[in-house]
Amino acid sequence: MHRTQAVAVSLAFVSLAAVAQSPSVFGYRDFTQQQKWDTTFLTVPDPKLAGQHLKTLTAEPHWASSPEDLKTAQYVAAKFKEAGLQTEIVPYRVLLNKPKKISIEAFDSKGKKLMSGPTKEHVDGDPFQDDPRVLPAFNGSSPSGDVTGEVIYCNYGTLADFRKIKELGIDMHGKIALVRYGQNFRGVKVYIAQQMGAAGVLIYSDPADDGWVKGDKSPQGAFRPDNAVQRGSVQFIAKYTGDPETPGVASTEKLPDSARLPENKLQDDQPTIPANPLSYQDAQPILRALGGPESPRPWQGALPFTYHLGGKGVTAHMHLEQDYAVRTIWNVIGKIPGTDAPDEWVIAGNHRDAWVYGAVDPNSGTAAMLETVHGLGELLKQGWRPKRTVVIGSWDAEEEGLVGSTEWAEEHAAELQHAVAYFNTDVGVSGPDFGASSVPSLQQFVR
Ligand SMILES: [Zn+2]
Repeated sequence: MHRTQAVAVSLAFVSLAAVAQSPSVFGYRDFTQQQKWDTTFLTVPDPKLAGQHLKTLTAEPHWASSPEDLKTAQYVAAKFKEAGLQTEIVPYRVLLNKPKKISIEAFDSKGKKLMSGPTKEHVDGDPFQDDPRVLPAFNGSSPSGDVTGEVIYCNYGTLADFRKIKELGIDMHGKIALVRYGQNFRGVKVYIAQQMGAAGVLIYSDPADDGWVKGDKSPQGAFRPDNAVQRGSVQFIAKYTGDPETPGVASTEKLPDSARLPENKLQDDQPTIPANPLSYQDAQPILRALGGPESPRPWQGALPFTYHLGGKGVTAHMHLEQDYAVRTIWNVIGKIPGTDAPDEWVIAGNHRDAWVYGAVDPNSGTAAMLETVHGLGELLKQGWRPKRTVVIGSWDAEEEGLVGSTEWAEEHAAELQHAVAYFNTDVGVSGPDFGASSVPSLQQFVR
């Protein structure tokens, strides 16, 4: 899951050092000793080592629950141990879908095939793309399904967009909603489409939003090439996050199956209609063929024809076979017990799982986090002890719906009553601009 906001743990120390020159620091009567620790800490994190962590963590596709994902957990655990943290790999058993067969076809009103896909993603010169462990582009939490329906273009699939569709006299019942990525979480697009009676949802990336309109495409530039697809979860995370079968309960290895919701009773946070992402290369022939009224002008994307809403017999056939299974995932938890208030936890974390290699999301953040842990390890060797307990979490299956962190929080709900702060470090590095976000009470700290 891509997050634009990212608060690096190391940032905390950078910002403290930056204000260390001032004679008084908020929260400290005397900052002298803390300033020494900060200065020592800042000499440790090493960009070269961060680069090595990143290379190791992204050497293989490591979708949550895969053997490669377990290897990354073991690597992170070894680094935590090396630094002197109390370390454990914490498994949970959670429901995840893995695509078995993904087939999308579209036909015009005469039954002529417009496209058949998804087209395999390809970028010239990329040596990693043909790895058999790269899963086809799919949406986490989409059910299996075999549906055919008339295609209606619904812009970003916001509530306002679907209301507009209704206002324009189009009934979504039994239709396939073709929506573009952007403006809201993809699970919300599917949630509203489902409420409107749609039979399925195709979510494509329009070049207006993250393609050549924004800048040169990869590999020349940083923007999405023609046949690249955004993977992601369509879980209804506003209902609840985590393992769909255990809302409010930790999916520990010991949890009996009888304590899990049965798979056919999961309407609450799981879509009941199939959803799948598409590239704009695959969406283009469908969009181009759509008849019916012109779409409202702000709905026009960057493909070279006027976007219509549909309703003139262009149909899509979605055939998705998802392998749903209770799979084992692995969080890595590292702790440094506090001396004065051990029950008060200061927690920092990032997820580790990725849809594919995860170089930016999440492992640029994990690389930074591991160097932060490296710094804490040096301080520990020199006798530093935190007053509160420091907890570092490397979460699994975040991409499917914050699954690893949710299960851990459910397991530790009592201790977390007196947690003090949480810092997340997803997407540590992407592009030249710094970004961070926080609750208002941490404003001074982030600055
Ligand atoms: Zn992420």
